[in-house]
Amino acid sequence: MTEHRAKKRFGQHFLHDQNIIHRIVTAIDPKHHQTIIEIGPGKGALTFPLLEHLDTLHVLELDRDLAQALSKKYEAVKIRPEKKIVIHCVDALSYDFGKIGNQHLRIVGNLPYNISTPLIFHLLRYHHSIDDMVFMLQEEVVDRICATPGNKDFGRLSVMVQAHCHAEKLFTVSPGAFSPPPKVMSAIIKLKPRDRFLKEINDPPGFAHIVKLAFSQRRKTLKNCLKGVLEKNQINDLGIVPEARAETLSVDDFIQLANSYHKENQ
Ligand code: SAM
Repeated sequence: MTEHRAKKRFGQHFLHDQNIIHRIVTAIDPKHHQTIIEIGPGKGALTFPLLEHLDTLHVLELDRDLAQALSKKYEAVKIRPEKKIVIHCVDALSYDFGKIGNQHLRIVGNLPYNISTPLIFHLLRYHHSIDDMVFMLQEEVVDRICATPGNKDFGRLSVMVQAHCHAEKLFTVSPGAFSPPPKVMSAIIKLKPRDRFLKEINDPPGFAHIVKLAFSQRRKTLKNCLKGVLEKNQINDLGIVPEARAETLSVDDFIQLANSYHKENQ
C-alpha cells in the first residue's frame, strides 16, 4: 500500500500496536460463519486479523483512496480464495444495515471519533438485527454510555444506549497505539442489544423526545425541562420527584415518563 496521509476530516487514527490489535480481535471473538461488518477498516489493521477467523467480512469505508488500497492489499495477500472481503465504499452514517440481510449482525470497528455518537444513534435503529457491537471510542464517550444514574457522566447518551443495549467497558487504549496519536484516551466497549426495556416503551420516538427534553437544560429540574409536556402532578403520580434532575433518574423512570406522555397524546 502506498503511503496514505491521515485525513483529519475522516477521523483517521490508524492502529499499529499489535498487542492492542490482538486484544481487540480476542474481545470480538469472531467465528467463521458469522456475519461481521467492520466500520472504517482504514489500512486493514483489524480487517486482516479478523478475516483469518472468517469466511466473509463486510467493511464500510468512506475514504475512496483507502477502500481502493484495501482492495489491492487484499488481492495481494489473499491467502485462501474462500476468504472474502466485501468492500462497501459508503458513509456508515446513512448506510442501511438491513441491506446485508442477516438477522444476526455483529458490528465492529475503531470508529472515527468525530461521528461516533450519531453513528451509535443510527445503529440503534437496527438493534433487532444486531447480535452485538464491539467498538473503539473515545474513553470519555464510553464512560458516558456506561454511566449510572447520579454519576456526572449520566446523560441522554447513557439513557438512549442503555434502553437498547447492555453496555460494558472492556479496556482502555493509550494514544501511542495509533498513528497519528489522538489527543485523548480511547476505550473498547461492547454493546449487546436486549429487549428488556424496549418491550416496555409504547412509543419509541416519544421516548427519545422526552429523554432529549429532560437533559436539555442540565441545571433545571425535571418539571421545568418538561414544562408544557408533562405537568408536575403527572410526574408526581408516577412516583418520580418533579424537583429531581434528569441525571438522577433511572432508565425505567424515563420509560414511565414517556409512556405517560404517550397516553396523554394518543
Ligand atoms: N480500522 C482502522 C484502524 O484501526 O487502524 C482505521 C480506524 S480510523 C479511527 C476510522 C476509519 O473510519 C478511517 O478509515 C476513516 O476513513 C473511516 N471513516 C470515517 N468516516 C466514515 C464514515 N462516515 N463511514 C465509513 N467509514 C468512515
